[in-house]
Amino acid sequence: MACNACDYRIHPPQLICPNCLSRDVAPRAASGRGTIYSFTINRQQWLPDLEVPYALAIVELDDQPGVRITAQLRCEDFSQIAIGKSVAVGFEPREDIFMPTFTLV
Ligand SMILES: [Zn+2]
Repeated sequence: MACNACDYRIHPPQLICPNCLSRDVAPRAASGRGTIYSFTINRQQWLPDLEVPYALAIVELDDQPGVRITAQLRCEDFSQIAIGKSVAVGFEPREDIFMPTFTLV
């Protein structure tokens, strides 16, 4: 989502721009690129069908500093994950929706 008045990127979607308070906001495609702001490796199997371990990252979007998305980070070698590394988004089908996941670039 983005503000048409000041070009600020908004996530999660809101009806009013948090930067300039304009109501002229609308969906807009993002670059899909970002930087790892923080991450964790989950090794606890919270649910019987949950595959562990997996990495969960907070990614700051390149399109808008300060706008962050939390999503799974797909990576074979967790030692390669570090704060500040560049990532790209992909989307994986889960039941009737597509979930964003990131990979290192
Ligand atoms: Zn705005």
